[in-house]
Amino acid sequence: MRRAVGHGKRIAGPPRNRLAARVEGLYPGKVAYKWLCFDADGVLFDYDRAEKEALEGALTRVGQRLEPELHALYRQVNQELWSAWQQGRITTDELKTVRFEHFLAKAGIRARPDSFAQCYLNALARAHHLCPGCKPALKALRRRYRLAVVTNGLSSVQQARLTGSGLMPWFEVVVISEEIGVAKPARAFFEQALHRMGQPKRDKVLVVGDSWEADIAGAAACGLHTCWFNPQGLPLPKGPTVQRVVQSWAELRQWLMNEAPRA
Ligand SMILES: [Mg+2]
Repeated sequence: MRRAVGHGKRIAGPPRNRLAARVEGLYPGKVAYKWLCFDADGVLFDYDRAEKEALEGALTRVGQRLEPELHALYRQVNQELWSAWQQGRITTDELKTVRFEHFLAKAGIRARPDSFAQCYLNALARAHHLCPGCKPALKALRRRYRLAVVTNGLSSVQQARLTGSGLMPWFEVVVISEEIGVAKPARAFFEQALHRMGQPKRDKVLVVGDSWEADIAGAAACGLHTCWFNPQGLPLPKGPTVQRVVQSWAELRQWLMNEAPRA
C-alpha cells in the first residue's frame, strides 16, 4: 500500500542541520498556508507496525509465523502489485486478492488467497497506531489551518483507520486513491484534492508526506508546497524544491505554529 522510496543510508552527523542547510534557502518564508494535506501512512499512522500486525494475524490463522524472510517477500510482492495497479495493468479487485495469491504461492503456503486477503484487510483496518506526537500536534494545528488527508490505499481500510483513530472529524477533506481511481503521484490525484478543497491558491496548500516520489514530487509537480516527513533522516533526494524537511511531529508543529507566517 505504501511504496517505500528513498531507501538509503542515514546521514552521518546531525541530519537535521545538514538537511536544513539544503532546504531552507529554498523556503520563501512569507507564505501563510491555509490548508495542510497529510499523507496517511508513515505520517499519521505507523504503517510498518500496522502491516506487521495484519500480516502476523493472517499468517497465524493458517498456522504460520511471520519470519523476517516472509515479511520481506510480502513487501516485495505488495509493491509489485501496487505498481501494476498504478500502471492500470490490474484492477482494484484483482489487487486485493492477487497480491496474496502471489505471496502465498512464492512462500509455499497452502491457503485460500481470498480468505487470507480478507483476514489481512480486516486486521489492517483495525490497526490505527498513530505516529508519536501526531494527535496533540493536529489538535493544535486544526485551530489555525484547515486539514485534509491525501492517501493512497483502499477505501474501507483507510476510512476505518481514520475513524478508529478518532482523527476523522478533524479533516474537512479526505481523498483516498481507490475512491477516485487514481493514485499519487499522478497530477489528477492532487487536482481532485484541490477541487474538493474549493480550489485554494496552490501556494496556500502544504502537502506533508513521507514518500519523496508519491507525495513530494507529485505535489510539487502540481504547484503545491511540500514538507518532507523524514523521521529516519534519509538524504535529501535530487528533484523538486521542498519547502521544509522535518523529522518529527514536534518539529512540524513548532514550524507551523510558531515560525510560519499567520494568514
Ligand atoms: Mg506515506
